Amino acid sequence: TRDQVHNFAAGPSPLPTKCLEEAALGLLNYEDTGMGICELSHRGKEFKAVIEGAEADLRSLLQVPDNYTILFSQGGGTGQFSAVVLNLLAAHRLAHPVPAEEFKPPVLDYVLTGSWSSKAYAEAQRLCAPPFPNCPAFGQPRIAASTKSTSWTRLPSRDEYNFSKDAAYVYYCENETINGIEFPPKAEDKEAFPFDLVSEGVEIVADYSSSFISRPIPNFSRHAIIYAGAQKNLGPSGVTVLIVRNDLLVDTTEASKLGCIPAVPITYEYKILANNKSLYNTPPTFPIYVSALVLKHLIKNKGGLEGLEQTNREKAQTLYETLENAEKKGKAKLVVRDSSARSWMNVTFNIEGEGEEKKFLEGAEKRGFRQLKGHRSVGVLFADSEGFFFSAGIRASIYNAVTIESVKLLCDYINEFCN
Ligand code: PMP
Repeated sequence: TRDQVHNFAAGPSPLPTKCLEEAALGLLNYEDTGMGICELSHRGKEFKAVIEGAEADLRSLLQVPDNYTILFSQGGGTGQFSAVVLNLLAAHRLAHPVPAEEFKPPVLDYVLTGSWSSKAYAEAQRLCAPPFPNCPAFGQPRIAASTKSTSWTRLPSRDEYNFSKDAAYVYYCENETINGIEFPPKAEDKEAFPFDLVSEGVEIVADYSSSFISRPIPNFSRHAIIYAGAQKNLGPSGVTVLIVRNDLLVDTTEASKLGCIPAVPITYEYKILANNKSLYNTPPTFPIYVSALVLKHLIKNKGGLEGLEQTNREKAQTLYETLENAEKKGKAKLVVRDSSARSWMNVTFNIEGEGEEKKFLEGAEKRGFRQLKGHRSVGVLFADSEGFFFSAGIRASIYNAVTIESVKLLCDYINEFCN
């Protein structure tokens, strides 16, 4: 049963049982209407109350300033890899209404710290490439910093950033889910995101998919766009939350009439979404409904963002301390070497010794610990006397719905295994 299992999935991830129980009832008979939430019009008063409630709760939980609009969109985090490029190119074009022959494709600065920021950068390159020979590119994606050469096991140091003064935007991923790297929250932390090195007037975009509502967002109002897929801390997959500064809700059709930029697919235009209160077309009603239940639960029962921050800090500290001890004994190795860059959400490590990782996972399964295997892309090929074997390492994701009790039980098991 659900009570016998501790789910450490990286996403989709566990959701609070209370909320799922309520959602199960709502799926059949929403507030005594005799109809399930998925059977009600997205334009009816019931769903309108759900989506407006979710928006208001998110605004209060994250203290979103008034000059930002909260949108519910589809297409996942990956959809935003594209939407960010297209909407911000349009905003940049409108801010530079020169004749087409005088327009210079803007630089788009990407900070690469792992798989997801790299994918976002690759999408920017794809979308900006000239559509036919002798045509100028739409934009110039550029790497402002990268830790690829050290296999994403650390964050850039301040002197490694090389931002362009006239970029249209700087893009970063706050928490790299696969590698377990996260920017520390305080400006004085050595590896904090260097907001002060980005020139004034250059927009900043952050992918918060795997750390959304786990703790406060540092320097909120320095951001142009903050976005997150729901399926880690918020709700089921299928809905993506966007928080967009109001002046960036631009008419992309007007922008493309000026020439030199591509058109934006209509459901990806932020202004269209905003003008229609995220109901331009049929939204993913069930994921939004469950997210709304989760938000209410976090505010009412989990102490809001402060409470979540405190619990998440404690969970991460407990697990990292246990792993550091195992590392001292030569039994485990943390993937991220700089302790301040270690993710609070995705804890990545290896169990040392031939065949030990397999044994560790088998023992974990028996004790009810689920979905601990690392991402397939970070696997390493090992060689030993018997030949080659592949291991993707271990990743324990400890999102909001994973309790401190589950984390402590996992720590007990790690201590037992590594003794
Ligand atoms: N960004 C991050 C940080 C992610 O973890 C993920 C997916 N886990 C994505 C983007 C892509 O999200 P999606 O699968 O919803 O497109």
